Amino acid sequence: MIKEFKNEERTIKIDHDKCTGCGECVEQCPADVYELKDGKSHATNIDKCVDCCLCVQVCPVGAIEHSSC
Ligand code: SF4
Ligand code: SF4
Repeated sequence: MIKEFKNEERTIKIDHDKCTGCGECVEQCPADVYELKDGKSHATNIDKCVDCCLCVQVCPVGAIEHSSC
């Protein structure tokens, strides 16, 4: 299942079938956008995103798609 998070500036899609819950995106995002819920990543604080693209780069399974990256 693809989980979509959206605000006026960007869309983040996280493939929950691929996400292993490793927590890399949660740890590496400089703006604390992500949190783990039930073992899957959620871009709960998308409004804080600074479009640095680190999350896309660090996810080991390529589960994150970001409209600015
Ligand atoms: S693009 Fe950067 S600030 Fe935005 S969610 Fe990804 S790691 Fe966080
Ligand atoms: S880095 Fe990728 S696999 Fe790891 S928790 Fe985040 S979305 Fe899931």
